[in-house]
Amino acid sequence: MQTTVIHASRILTPEEEISDGIIVVEGSRIASLGHRDTVRIPAGATDYVAAGTTVVPGFVDVHIHGAGGHDVMEANARALDRITSVVARHGTTSMVATTVTAPVEETCHSLAGIARYIRSHENAEEVNPESRPQAEILGIHLEGPFISKAQRGVHPAETIARPSIEVLDRFMKAADGLVRILTVAPELPGALEMIAHAVAENIVVALGHTDADYDQARAAIEAGARHSVHFYNAMRPFTHRDPGIVGAILTDPEVTAEMIADLVHVAGPAIQVLLGTKGFDTVLLASDGIAATAMADGNYRLGNFDVTVKNGVARNSEGKLAGSTLTLDRAVRNVVGLGVSFKDAVRMATILPARRLGLAGRKGVIAEGADADLLMLTPDLRVAGVMTRGAGLS
Ligand SMILES: [Zn+2]
Repeated sequence: MQTTVIHASRILTPEEEISDGIIVVEGSRIASLGHRDTVRIPAGATDYVAAGTTVVPGFVDVHIHGAGGHDVMEANARALDRITSVVARHGTTSMVATTVTAPVEETCHSLAGIARYIRSHENAEEVNPESRPQAEILGIHLEGPFISKAQRGVHPAETIARPSIEVLDRFMKAADGLVRILTVAPELPGALEMIAHAVAENIVVALGHTDADYDQARAAIEAGARHSVHFYNAMRPFTHRDPGIVGAILTDPEVTAEMIADLVHVAGPAIQVLLGTKGFDTVLLASDGIAATAMADGNYRLGNFDVTVKNGVARNSEGKLAGSTLTLDRAVRNVVGLGVSFKDAVRMATILPARRLGLAGRKGVIAEGADADLLMLTPDLRVAGVMTRGAGLS
């Protein structure tokens, strides 16, 4: 088995900081780590010196539609290879491929393609250290069609659907059981039953694209919803007599809030309100990145509709924001720029999303037995090196 020994001046696990540390990677996993005086270095290992950088876990993106000119709904190996390679260069080492609202048949076709791709990469225990870093697709996030027409953002109104356990079951079957997150507007008829069904199937239910009032949002949380997508965006706005969905999420410590920290979707002070209210254990950084991510301005597709990107901001023909071109390395830099500590910023992009997905032992941490998904970050928080499941550093 290929063994790599990474020598780091600083490691952030991210719960613990280790200076003058060593990480031993065997195959695709982390075998051991600690201060250099405490770790036994196996014979015949390849050394990698990460001088002048901090080694952190790879970022986990729970909401991403595409990158590098491709959308996950294309669902073929070429598109998904390209997306996973492009985001890896920006530090994302695992992701939940996110669909947008589309006709049911078309969605099923995309789900089947993404599922085939995921299955074909499973059990790939044999690590080729020479291969380039590539994010792992952990599953699928269904953003739509069970959303509010009033808060649809750019999702096409004609294919938005009422919550239906039957349709959700069709999606789950097409996705070979790999649906991990379901975004839903809880005020819609049938939503609470569908939420309970999804939770029983081990799907993380996220509130989003919703016009729910406070009581409707509470009912969804009671039914098992525990996450919310792009907090503030495409949600009934908060007011002091009608706190709505925003008030319900802000005041429930069990519910995580995903934030698009590109400083376009949400203004800095509103991010500070979110963090000041919920603290640093329940706010996750997600990109909502689309095909235009890491590409020049121009015209792109999101799902099956057109968007135009100008100065890195994606909008549809009506001028509504249409996802982002954000990468998680930039999101981390942006929140650090707002005064969040480096450690908290890294946690928001690593262990917190991994925990929400129920993968905290394997993803988003530097720990014995965890996948060897590692980043070397420069002091100005640029990605200087990436390892994904043991590959990519050499
Ligand atoms: Zn959205």
